[in-house]
Amino acid sequence: MGTQTIRRYGSVIVAAGAVGASLLAAAALHPDSRVAAAAAVDPDAAPYFRTEYFPGTEALAADEMRVIALGTGNPEPRKSQAAASWFVELGNGDKFFFDVGTGSQMNFPMLRVSYRDADKVFLSHLHTDHAGDLPELWIGGWVAGRYDRPLRVWGPSGQTPQLGTRHFVDMQKAAWTWDTTMRHGKLPAAGGEIEVNEFDYAKAQVVYAANGVRITSFPALHGIDGAVSYRLEWRDLTFVFSGDTTPTRFMLEHGSDADLLVHESIDTVGRMMRIWGWDRQTAEIVGGLIHTQPAAAGKVFSLTKPRLAVGYHFYNDTSSYQETYDAVRQTYAGPLVLARDGLVFNVTADDIRVRMLVGNEDTYPETIGAKEYASAKRLANTEPSAWLLESQLKWND
Ligand SMILES: [Zn+2]
Ligand SMILES: [Zn+2]
Repeated sequence: MGTQTIRRYGSVIVAAGAVGASLLAAAALHPDSRVAAAAAVDPDAAPYFRTEYFPGTEALAADEMRVIALGTGNPEPRKSQAAASWFVELGNGDKFFFDVGTGSQMNFPMLRVSYRDADKVFLSHLHTDHAGDLPELWIGGWVAGRYDRPLRVWGPSGQTPQLGTRHFVDMQKAAWTWDTTMRHGKLPAAGGEIEVNEFDYAKAQVVYAANGVRITSFPALHGIDGAVSYRLEWRDLTFVFSGDTTPTRFMLEHGSDADLLVHESIDTVGRMMRIWGWDRQTAEIVGGLIHTQPAAAGKVFSLTKPRLAVGYHFYNDTSSYQETYDAVRQTYAGPLVLARDGLVFNVTADDIRVRMLVGNEDTYPETIGAKEYASAKRLANTEPSAWLLESQLKWND
């Protein structure tokens, strides 16, 4: 992945390559890409690597936003492409997950960010490919260092209470009762909690405002009621995340003029038929009425005019890239990246730099102070039954 510099009003066309799935390797640009030379990058401004992002080596500038694709795929995650998850870091220290789709948490430790610092999740809707790794973040983050605070979840209501985020989280808690009962008493109590912030899916409204960050939710149209898209504003930077939606006027009203617009661009109808063995009618319903076809995503990009348009939510690889790219290009000629896992966007008022994350798949989670962990409050411990406890072999007598 080459470094790409995009001027606010420039006409540079950028396309991220689809070659090379491993996060361990910086991939080549797609041959069809027309990429500006990275002439604006000062090679002496260390530490900065033009083609790779090495987590933990670059502090964000006070006015800089970093957006990392932890998952860009579909409800069937594969090793090279987890389901939807976008991680946003701001120069003020704030960090936000937008969706935590299945498999995406496998990529998180590589970012070298503490689970304690990554305690805020905004869910666009309650499909597995957008919320399936919530238990991983909740329980895994608790075990690995979120010792003094709950996981905080924001998400939409539904047409009935059972279709809303609060019910979803309550049921997660119920489903994982054995898990949490066993861990409580041993692990700090606070990290085992989830704070739910459910808001009205039908209203365009600010759902989070703190520390100079404002996050607005607005309705998405995705099969049934209860999906939303998000707009994050901080300083003069804007990140918009569609979640899953077919094109709507809400996106034009609330998603326009973003610095980064991450909008779904599902596989073409033809590819859906080939990937899943579907008949044309099913593919057209799912692809056209529930999701956004690549050419429709291009239309949305043309109408909303982001500084950089990012398409995601299709199987992005060598067999698919060109077809999707060509379809988006039927309706959009502006700056464009078709995302895959591990892409990193550094956004300032002057530049948007797109690189590949280069991480170690063996990376352990970030640690916190053992003293703080040890002294944090616990709930009552649950012991095994006496007869079961007595079965333990005294192996070291
Ligand atoms: Zn969905
Ligand atoms: Zn989805």
